[in-house]
Amino acid sequence: MAFTGRLTNAFEAPRDWRSAMRRGLACRCPACGSGRLFSSFLKVRPNCEACGEDLSHHRSDDLPPYIVITIVGHVIGGANLTFESFAEWPMWMHMALWPVLALAMCLGLLQPVKGGVVGYQWALRMHGFGDNRDEEAPLRVGGNEG
Ligand SMILES: [Zn+2]
Repeated sequence: MAFTGRLTNAFEAPRDWRSAMRRGLACRCPACGSGRLFSSFLKVRPNCEACGEDLSHHRSDDLPPYIVITIVGHVIGGANLTFESFAEWPMWMHMALWPVLALAMCLGLLQPVKGGVVGYQWALRMHGFGDNRDEEAPLRVGGNEG
């Protein structure tokens, strides 16, 4: 038996983390993909409106902003250095463009990135997203093979 990096319950069905993250990035329920994930800009619904999946177990905390800062920092920093090197822009143009672009990118990315993190947590059954059968079934190491 190969170790896959996490403990699984013998009765758990595997969840595809790629499709769960894709659904989360689209701001949809990671379980069914049709219900909306958010009730407001960054507030996750307690339950899916379509399938009833309990979404209250998410604990994305500060990870989505960290990911967004990393993405935006690399894009804005790289673009700023590129334009600084090859274009003869006046300083006011830099001062007007980069902060507005950074703010727009942060606001545009924050919700889908948080959805992706919630989808990943759901797929890995983190923080109570599992079936809560830990007390009933013995744990085993590895994936769902044999
Ligand atoms: Zn759903």
